Amino acid sequence: MNSQEFRKEAHRLVDWMADYLEEVEQYPVKSPQAPGDLLKQLPAASPEKGEAFSTIFSDFQSLVMPGITHWQSPNFFAYFPANSSYPSVLAEMLTATLGAQCMIWETSPAAAELEERMMEWIRDMMGLPKDFTGVIQDTASTATLCAILSAREKASGFTLNHTGFTGNEKYTIYCSSQTHSSIDKAVRIAGIGSDQLRKVAVDSEFAMRPDALEAHIKEDIALGYTPLCVVAATGTTSSTAMDPVSAIGEICQRYNLWLHVDAAYAGTATILPEKRWIIEGVEMADSYVFNPHKWMFTNFDCTAYYVKDKGALIRTFEILPEYLKTKTDHIVNNYRDWGVPLGRRFRALKLWFVIRSYGKEGIQKRLREHISYAQYFEEEIQKRLGAKILAPTHLNLVCLQLQKPGHNTEALNAYNAEILQKINDSGKAYLTHTKLNGVYCIRVVFGQTYLQHRHVENLLQLFESLV
Ligand SMILES: *Cc1c(COP(=O)(O)O)cnc(C)c1O
Repeated sequence: MNSQEFRKEAHRLVDWMADYLEEVEQYPVKSPQAPGDLLKQLPAASPEKGEAFSTIFSDFQSLVMPGITHWQSPNFFAYFPANSSYPSVLAEMLTATLGAQCMIWETSPAAAELEERMMEWIRDMMGLPKDFTGVIQDTASTATLCAILSAREKASGFTLNHTGFTGNEKYTIYCSSQTHSSIDKAVRIAGIGSDQLRKVAVDSEFAMRPDALEAHIKEDIALGYTPLCVVAATGTTSSTAMDPVSAIGEICQRYNLWLHVDAAYAGTATILPEKRWIIEGVEMADSYVFNPHKWMFTNFDCTAYYVKDKGALIRTFEILPEYLKTKTDHIVNNYRDWGVPLGRRFRALKLWFVIRSYGKEGIQKRLREHISYAQYFEEEIQKRLGAKILAPTHLNLVCLQLQKPGHNTEALNAYNAEILQKINDSGKAYLTHTKLNGVYCIRVVFGQTYLQHRHVENLLQLFESLV
């Protein structure tokens, strides 16, 4: 492909992209494909000769598109959203074009400095403490791994990186029974071992019980363990339960534990002053993570990771081989030392585009609309169908159970699963489920970029038509 062809195809693609986003609701939201559907259409061997782009693109349309689940459809109510937006896509086009590798300041000074400023903008917009320093990571899972590794290194006087585990360390980590699987994964990778991960009991609203946390810590100390870190969830994945950061933070201070706050999804909401209560006490946290790539209109991947002690983060990850030394090392941020990978994409650009394009007020307006849709849906689904709400709707996730007279829990579980399946098979909406106290519940998230009131109304009608 030469420049002339590139220009022509790029124009064509931009038109396709704009059409796609305008018409995205016409696709079945969840891909109806069965396992192997694409594989059996793909040649087993790579092509010997180059092919025309028109052929490649036509195959993209006919082979790939049917196997896509449409996360940018306003009828996407599943998981948590992975929102994109026009300014974010435009930034990604530039990022791909520049193809810059932003591992250190020198490999693109503007990328490093834009990242530094974006992390400050976000910290201040979100009401996070001024002594937090931010860095962009690929995902919340990686950020949580960084937190646990930093906690481990700080607690061991930065020796474990060198000596490896000697068998004498008996660290324990705490999170609620509702916390995200990324904590389990990080504990394994960090060498702590999942047997040392304590799942603390939750209250009736699925939030961690501080009294149960403290009891666990005391018990572990008595058994000869060294409690290392608590991961508090601000907005659990199942139900957006809010662990009480303040009470947990006080316990962490009392026992000298690292406090990591996982606000992967809900963190976006703290841009709203009326929702800031969810992170009350965050000034006691050692680290904090939230994903602009979920609810903040910035396409995957983009995670904001904040730490109080930048030195501990860098000391955990810094390795300085001769070929990476530069003259400016002491005055600039070399983000390769702030996380796991060496190579880094230029992710700050899309944040810059999104934040400037929406403005703080634009983001706030959109979030408030989403929250009001959830409230409306919650009221209507109870009124129209007598559905039961199984967890507090703190933000824009509604956890519901449809009722059927004479059904016990098991029968209701099966019934709700069946309705969910019917909704997803219809292609008109995509929802997912969770279990709370053994009860199957349908999760409905109102957070998609292009969501409007009419989509909420359509979803209510879809429910009505199926029960
Ligand atoms: C989505 C989510 C994660 C994982 O996010 P990734 O960026 O995909 O790693 C972690 N914690 C919570 C609470 C989440 O909702």
